[in-house]
Amino acid sequence: MPDVYLGLGSNLGNRMEHLAMARDAITSRVGTITAESSIYDTAPWGPVPQDNYLNQVVRVSATLAPRELLDVLHEIERAAGRDRKNEIRYGPRVLDLDILLYGDSAVNEDGLTIPHPRIAERAFVLVPLAEIAPKLSIAGEPIETLLHHVDTTSVRRLNPI
Ligand code: ADP
Ligand code: MG
Repeated sequence: MPDVYLGLGSNLGNRMEHLAMARDAITSRVGTITAESSIYDTAPWGPVPQDNYLNQVVRVSATLAPRELLDVLHEIERAAGRDRKNEIRYGPRVLDLDILLYGDSAVNEDGLTIPHPRIAERAFVLVPLAEIAPKLSIAGEPIETLLHHVDTTSVRRLNPI
């Protein structure tokens, strides 16, 4: 079974609870979580001013094909209260679940690109991903190299509880 890396994020409501709910749902609907990063408090990325996020990356032994996995992740987002039809693109969300990597697979379909197309520009993804997979390469680039090109100052690791 391929190692799948998922990015979790929340910046509305009880952010910690949304991430916990997501991990539970991932475990029951996607597969065993075999590694999880610390949780990070991060500055929002992109054009929309909004509150900070909590972000985390988990590794899962997935039994679902990529498209099925994306559908399940969207269902989990919906169950947490996310309404994609009425939200601002890159705006605040109760839960954001992204497929970062799916083994060594490359997927380029309508609405699904793997590796996730915005990994290299997102410190809030690279920092937790590097924490659990420091030897990883993404499209031939070592994650360490990618990290050198982003500003990680507003990605703050929370102390384990
Ligand atoms: P982002 O996660 O980049 O901040 P959104 O959550 O608004 O943005 O997702 C926008 C679209 O990205 C979704 O409709 C989804 O179909 C698409 N998408 C493409 N590739 C992926 C992927 N690897 N993981 C999750 N969503 C993806
Ligand atoms: Mg997303």
